[in-house]
Amino acid sequence: MTVMKSRYRDGCFYCEHNQTQVERMVPIIPLDVSTFYLNRDQTHPGRAIVALDWHVDELFELTAPMRQAFIDDVAQAAAILKEYTGASKINYGIYGDTVSHLHFHLVPKLPSDADWDDAFVNNPSDVTPKSDAELAPMINDLRKLVDQNYETLRN
Ligand SMILES: [Zn+2]
Repeated sequence: MTVMKSRYRDGCFYCEHNQTQVERMVPIIPLDVSTFYLNRDQTHPGRAIVALDWHVDELFELTAPMRQAFIDDVAQAAAILKEYTGASKINYGIYGDTVSHLHFHLVPKLPSDADWDDAFVNNPSDVTPKSDAELAPMINDLRKLVDQNYETLRN
């Protein structure tokens, strides 16, 4: 039996762009095949997500050109986050146990962080989610940086 493929999955907040997504993140700007989001959890300043614009569960489900385009988006976002935050290292996480829609967590890290040389906590229990107003300055800055970079890359 053939399994029907779909670019959309009911109940997936990255597909539905529902209230659960709004409570966790704010869109910064669309990239080529994905969207760059800022997390409301800013335990690590600049913590962000790059999520593919359609539903697949696994990186290996993408064709090679699509996988390349997605990783290029992730690399562009990471470069901008590193420059903007002054982080010593960007951590990359693809987990997806409960939210399987393909997305990278991008977490800027510093040697002074409690979790330096260890995995960042994906869902910290003591988070105070940032409001739209609190995130707006960083979102505006990151949006401008991506836009400038976009022009440069495509000249
Ligand atoms: Zn999805």
